[in-house]
Amino acid sequence: MNTTTRLTRPHRFARTSCSQCGGDLGPGNHGTSDCRTHMAEADAAIRALLTPAQIRRMDARDAARAVRS
Ligand SMILES: [Zn+2]
Repeated sequence: MNTTTRLTRPHRFARTSCSQCGGDLGPGNHGTSDCRTHMAEADAAIRALLTPAQIRRMDARDAARAVRS
């Protein structure tokens, strides 16, 4: 499948979900059975919208939280 086909092709499912947490993951071609999959995708999507300074702040906050827990 080339890039154009992938971008114009509609998602196979109007809704997908995570079978581990039952979360609604929105339109897609497949769901997931592992929360780590959609957590990683959400993290990547958020980082794509942030500036490098904001990402550094987010990483520092996550590190602080990891130390406390
Ligand atoms: Zn999940």
